[in-house]
Amino acid sequence: MYELLMPSRVVYGRGTLGEVGQQAKAFGIKALIVSDPVMENIGVVARCAQYLQEAGLPFAKYTGVDSEPTDVHVKEALDVCRSERCDVVIAIGGGSSIDAAKAVAVMMTNEGEIGDYVGNQKRFAEKPLPLIAIPTTAGTGSEVTKVTVIINTKTDVKMMISQPALLPAVAIVDPLLTVSCPPSVTAATGVDALCHAIEAYISRRAHPVTDVLALSAIEAIVGYLRRAYENGQDIEAREKMAVAAMKAGMAFSNASVTLVHGMSRPIGALFHVPHGVSNAMLLPGVLEFTKDSAIERLAVIARIIKPSLKDVSDAEAADALVEEVKQLCRDLRIPNMKTWGIDKAAFDKAVDKMATDALASGSPSNNPKVPTHEEIVALYHYCYDYQYDTNPISHG
Ligand code: NAD
Repeated sequence: MYELLMPSRVVYGRGTLGEVGQQAKAFGIKALIVSDPVMENIGVVARCAQYLQEAGLPFAKYTGVDSEPTDVHVKEALDVCRSERCDVVIAIGGGSSIDAAKAVAVMMTNEGEIGDYVGNQKRFAEKPLPLIAIPTTAGTGSEVTKVTVIINTKTDVKMMISQPALLPAVAIVDPLLTVSCPPSVTAATGVDALCHAIEAYISRRAHPVTDVLALSAIEAIVGYLRRAYENGQDIEAREKMAVAAMKAGMAFSNASVTLVHGMSRPIGALFHVPHGVSNAMLLPGVLEFTKDSAIERLAVIARIIKPSLKDVSDAEAADALVEEVKQLCRDLRIPNMKTWGIDKAAFDKAVDKMATDALASGSPSNNPKVPTHEEIVALYHYCYDYQYDTNPISHG
């Protein structure tokens, strides 16, 4: 059986932020804006607020998502939502703001704490508050996914919660909002979207519709991410990336992510590496590890990226894909864990917990080659000082 879940409405196009007032008004009488301090400082929250005012919709705001979201951010935002009696939530920002807002929307109507719902141990019984998700990065695709990722500050685990109740009611994808992203954010979030698409395509849970979404996302990301990185004002590139990230989100939300994301979350939780960067640090090494179990699918991706590979064998095309990904990482100046500054002794101490947490998230079990704990530990060490410009080492 295949299943495809998405928000019931996706509003897309240049300037569509202007729709937020009318869209939100259809759902409630007072909105909570959830965002971060950067969005506040560069005036994006004020623009959103102005559109709500013009639509005659009162609002309150919580703009404290000052890092990737934690259970503390969720609690603070919930307090504002409850005390201000808001009945519709608007997330504007990167995946961090959107994920925090998703948790607020479900926890306004459901009992317990957000961490109770990890890994399907408990299902959201009540309908969440309606959520309007407006991304300002082209990366996570969170605006169209049934996923939220919240850091548990007690255990230092990035909790991945995936349930239909987390789907936004409306996604507003306005590519102009991404123009202000600095190159480092453009690179990290763009590679995050690439990981979503590649992982969805090779996932054991991939299906025909997610395949179409994933492959078209990969084609666009490889064609336009470098342009968006080199010139943030390139509106065509920003537009292609915004749609690609959304498609990649739809793909992975329905087919699941695999080993890169499973291993990436513990790096983010323990060493505070931004999500897209930690994915990028792992992508080439994990592809090398996985290659022999997914040669045909990796060859399809390779030939989309480089049509001249049509005459080589699938194995050669899969090898070439790894090289293409490494070249992209070089062009986007992606650091490895060592050059990012992760202390080797701290890393060595944490790596066993990281492998345990990666496996516990469930994502690695969707990888074409399902790793053991020891293989994950070895992969972490391999990726720690991965050189994007050397030849790959075989993982057997
Ligand atoms: P982010 O939201 O953490 O933003 C990164 C930085 O870029 C922040 O400082 C932010 O203020 C800034 N920024 C965002 N948009 C900007 C803009 N237009 N102009 C200038 N600065 C801007 O980064 P992200 O990669 O979008 O989100 C990462 C989070 O999303 C992680 O917690 C990750 O686990 C999660 N995630 C969620 C899903 C999902 O489906 N729910 C999928 C992937 C990742």
